[in-house]
Amino acid sequence: MRFNRSNIVLLIFFISSSVLFSQVGPEEALKYLESGNARFLSGQFSKKDLLGEVKNLQNGQSPYAVILACSDSRVPPELVFDESLGKLFIVRLAGNVATPEAIGSIEYAVEHLHSQLIVVLGHSKCGAVTAAVNGGHTTPNIEKLIHYIEPAVNEAKSMGDIADMVQLCVDLNVKHQIKHLTEKSPLLEEKVASGALLIVGGVYDLATGQMKSVQ
Ligand SMILES: [Zn+2]
Repeated sequence: MRFNRSNIVLLIFFISSSVLFSQVGPEEALKYLESGNARFLSGQFSKKDLLGEVKNLQNGQSPYAVILACSDSRVPPELVFDESLGKLFIVRLAGNVATPEAIGSIEYAVEHLHSQLIVVLGHSKCGAVTAAVNGGHTTPNIEKLIHYIEPAVNEAKSMGDIADMVQLCVDLNVKHQIKHLTEKSPLLEEKVASGALLIVGGVYDLATGQMKSVQ
């Protein structure tokens, strides 16, 4: 094939658009997170040029994963997954709950930034989950957050005597939020059904720094 001017323009267009929209598949994205967490645990962090990344990313972003995490100060996703700028699209709310606002943010990342993996990330000893388990007086706004965790607490309580009720509720809450994402979002439901999107659950252990998957 001979390259004339229009061929070259077309070629440049395809190369630039594939760079701009080059997307990491869901399984690969999950492996990136797992290996990032392994580096965090080993203390062998990847070298980062954050200011360089600021310049590289000024015109766009293409995060390979969306993370719905708790606001807890001990679980910052970029650090525990040893990631740089522009890689993770993060929504953080106490109890990692899928409120309409959280789902809207996630839909934006999936629809417009083409992220193909969502991780709902809970963590051990979560204060929001503990509050939902223990009940008691709280503010109306906190009450709204806790409302999203109640299905997990109700399911756990129906299981009889449990030694570590909070930990069980943390695990169940991750599963309930995953379910909630597709129940409340036709967009996410359709993407999951077509195989274009994977939603998985993880729980971060505050004692070890390790993320384990929730099945
Ligand atoms: Zn928490």
